Amino acid sequence: TLFSDLGLAEWAVQTCKELGMKRPTPVQAHCIPKILAGRDVLGLAQTGSGKTAAFALPILHRLAEDPYGIFALVVTPTRELAYQLAEQFRALGSCLHLRCAVVVGGMDMLTQAKTLMGRPHVVIATPGRVKVLLEENPDIPPVFSRTKFLVLDEADRVLDVGFQEELRAVFHCLPKNRQTLLFSATMTSNLETLLELSANKAYFYEA
Ligand code: AMP
Repeated sequence: TLFSDLGLAEWAVQTCKELGMKRPTPVQAHCIPKILAGRDVLGLAQTGSGKTAAFALPILHRLAEDPYGIFALVVTPTRELAYQLAEQFRALGSCLHLRCAVVVGGMDMLTQAKTLMGRPHVVIATPGRVKVLLEENPDIPPVFSRTKFLVLDEADRVLDVGFQEELRAVFHCLPKNRQTLLFSATMTSNLETLLELSANKAYFYEA
């Protein structure tokens, strides 16, 4: 399989080449066409499997077709992971005028609220901080009203460490017809529950 076989735009295929990504990894080869087809996806994949590009590439492909913000919300358990995800989004989206914002604890809330009000294309957040921003600023939930993608990265960890309440606040402000993409190292009962709630027929990938 080649990146050019997956249905991605030519610019995306070219970007992969420039980043030294010669061939799609298995999680990319399986999940990218399903995400482009509009399916929800649960991918069981470890860090290092290329899972970030497996969701970032199809999201950026769709974003390039119809760019508006906030197009995608990516929730991840830690600040460090949030910055790493942003780095990959920026690299893969380098030929788009991508506006990508990181919303995590430890930074000024007013600045973050202003950043969200500016409707960046991609928001990468930790659950606690995004919940507080949504709840304390009534102007913020509406900026998510047309969001196309919700990604839970390291979903087993996001769902496990007591973030359920935070996630409810997030789910609440997103449109029902969004696509949900879950990537996780392990299968958990929380994930099964989420998968059953999936509005689109979910595709399940396991390495
Ligand atoms: P991840 O599993 O998303 O944390 O990615 C692990 C690393 O693999 C990242 O540094 C990516 O840049 C790199 N990577 C992702 N996809 C590919 C690919 N198809 N070929 C080579 N490297 C890749």
